[in-house]
Amino acid sequence: MMRKKIVVANWKMNLSLAEGEQLFKNIIKEPQPYTYNHNVIICPPYTHIARFANIIKEADKDNISLGAQNCFDKVSGAYTGEVSVNMLKEAGARTVIVGHSERRQHFNESNGFIKNKIDALLVAKLQPIFCCGEPLKIREANQQNEFVYHQLEESLFHLTNETIANNIIIAYEPIWAIGTGKTASLAQAQEMHYFIRNVLVKQFGDEAAYNIPILYGGSCTATNACDLFSCADVDGGLIGGASLKFETFMPIIQALK
Ligand code: PEP
Repeated sequence: MMRKKIVVANWKMNLSLAEGEQLFKNIIKEPQPYTYNHNVIICPPYTHIARFANIIKEADKDNISLGAQNCFDKVSGAYTGEVSVNMLKEAGARTVIVGHSERRQHFNESNGFIKNKIDALLVAKLQPIFCCGEPLKIREANQQNEFVYHQLEESLFHLTNETIANNIIIAYEPIWAIGTGKTASLAQAQEMHYFIRNVLVKQFGDEAAYNIPILYGGSCTATNACDLFSCADVDGGLIGGASLKFETFMPIIQALK
């Protein structure tokens, strides 16, 4: 099985329902240039998911699906302000981003908490997009491999070979590249993706490691997407800022070719 090529839009806390709906409709009405093996996942704010799910149903597009930007690890209960994986599934999400650096930084999310979210998602049969990546200080000290290794170890190593191979998407997002305009160089991206792939080989075996898509995130744009996506171990991108406008996002989808 050839692993999938994927572009994920992370809208963060941007775009009103009306603005988002317009953009979403424009994206799905475009005749998609990609094949069955290419997927686009749009992760809008929670409040948009159910509405967009109805639009997708009518459009009948197999390659585009909806995701959420976060979830809680408990099924239900007195957790004011939180959203469960089943609620997201019911709304129409198929994948959920976990461990984004903004969640780690602003909400103190630990590798252990992210592991619990992954387990909750797998029970609900939703696909986690697991984000990892180092801050600038760690990169400057050339300790990025050890840093990312620990993130993978503490959140993913408990999974079986089969579970990880069939369910997990990994996104490598160097924190110094997110929203800064400082994209990782092709060499830096490929080096880290190759490192992650090898960690997966050692932990889960060749077949699982080969199947897991590893996306790049961090100032990926229409200008650099083609080059980034042509690196051997880069299987697409997690896109923040550039996913908020049709003109800047569509060329990134097209770069999957
Ligand atoms: C992100 O937030 O995951 C991201 C990659 O953002 P940006 O593309 O804006 O750097």
